[in-house]
Amino acid sequence: MPLARRINSRDFIELENKYGAHNYHPIPVVLQKGEGVYLWDVEGKRYYDFLSAYSAVNQGHCHPKIIGALNYQASQLTLTSRAFYNDKLGQYEKYITNLFGFEKVLPMNTGAEAVETALKICRKWGAERKGVPAAQSIIVVCSQNFHGRTTTIISFSSDPDAKNNFGPYTPGFVSIPYNNFPALEKALENKNVVGFLVEPIQGEAGIITPADDYLPKVAALCKSKNVLFMADEIQTGIARTGSLLAVCGNCTCKGQCERQAATYARPDVLILGKALSGGVYPVSAVLCDDAVMNVIQPGQHGSTYGGNPLASAVAMAALEVVKDEKLAQNARRLGKIFRQRMQNLSDVCTLVKTVRGRGLLNAIVINDSPDSSTAWDICVEFAKNGLLAKPTHGNIIRFAPPLVMNEDQLNECCDIIEKVIVNFKKA
Ligand SMILES: *Cc1c(COP(=O)(O)O)cnc(C)c1O
Repeated sequence: MPLARRINSRDFIELENKYGAHNYHPIPVVLQKGEGVYLWDVEGKRYYDFLSAYSAVNQGHCHPKIIGALNYQASQLTLTSRAFYNDKLGQYEKYITNLFGFEKVLPMNTGAEAVETALKICRKWGAERKGVPAAQSIIVVCSQNFHGRTTTIISFSSDPDAKNNFGPYTPGFVSIPYNNFPALEKALENKNVVGFLVEPIQGEAGIITPADDYLPKVAALCKSKNVLFMADEIQTGIARTGSLLAVCGNCTCKGQCERQAATYARPDVLILGKALSGGVYPVSAVLCDDAVMNVIQPGQHGSTYGGNPLASAVAMAALEVVKDEKLAQNARRLGKIFRQRMQNLSDVCTLVKTVRGRGLLNAIVINDSPDSSTAWDICVEFAKNGLLAKPTHGNIIRFAPPLVMNEDQLNECCDIIEKVIVNFKKA
């Protein structure tokens, strides 16, 4: 009998192409195993992960402590629905609210659901506490935002791919330029504004970092105008940018986050997802104080899986890893080294136009048209050389390795990036 041909990458790619919706355009590698900062494809080739599942895997792939919590809890109890209490949810709620300094949490599953939850809380708060009739309330957002894929969220997207032909859209949103404080001041002159939703660093837009004083000024203005400041930290949060949250900015707590520094721009509503579970399970959350959260009463919002015991156990373990392994401090330290090395590269190589970011959420802008395939082609070369990254918005390459990386590994990755870019020839 002839030996069956071994199934290879091409076969798996064909399967996805044939049977899956074409709503993504992946780099052509087929991954099979992950551990820490590494991924392996089905042929056994090893890669450094420089995307971390869009910053969901900050704690590294298959972190033993998180997988341990998952396995244990999976063998005890996974889902009860919120029709009943369970013995993990309350412990998790106490842990996460203490850690981030809010009085209450509302647990959901995906990032988009958490954003939706925040928007609903904000509108209800506007109607019941601020006295803005729900039909007239306005939430201010920023252009180039990314907050997820639901119909309401894409209603205020400025990305035609995300938005076109998915209408009719949800009304009640006004978009202003990002990192533009006067534009916010102007928008908040409208008494019907109940909230401002913003990414502390715009991730999908290409790691756009605002001025250091932008978020503190935003927080103060929102407070004075009685408008809820809602920070979407789904990508920036959980140590990614060198502090527990990006709104902690350059505060002096060195990632320990007592959050006392003047640069801490405390949001009224904090939205978390992605790394909240270390990439192990979909877990998201909305945190705020009682004065806001208490507008939600039984029956008014929920989710079958939200707050399930498995998610609660996984999220607690994932947050403990961040603290125990000092991942914020590591991201802060390695981020400086990374940007310095990329800056050195940019100084000698015209292909790299800009280097920017904070902590281990960084990007380089490739010196070519956003419509060119240069950034994509470079990422394909990175993959051939054992490093996985993906372009965002055409000519921008985001670099976001797991935060458990060490300095030697980071330097090896910088060597790969330099080598590929210096030797890159346009097709
Ligand atoms: C990824 C992301 C979301 C959406 O999260 P999903 O889990 O994909 O729904 C929302 N906001 C930001 C800033 C994100 O990066």
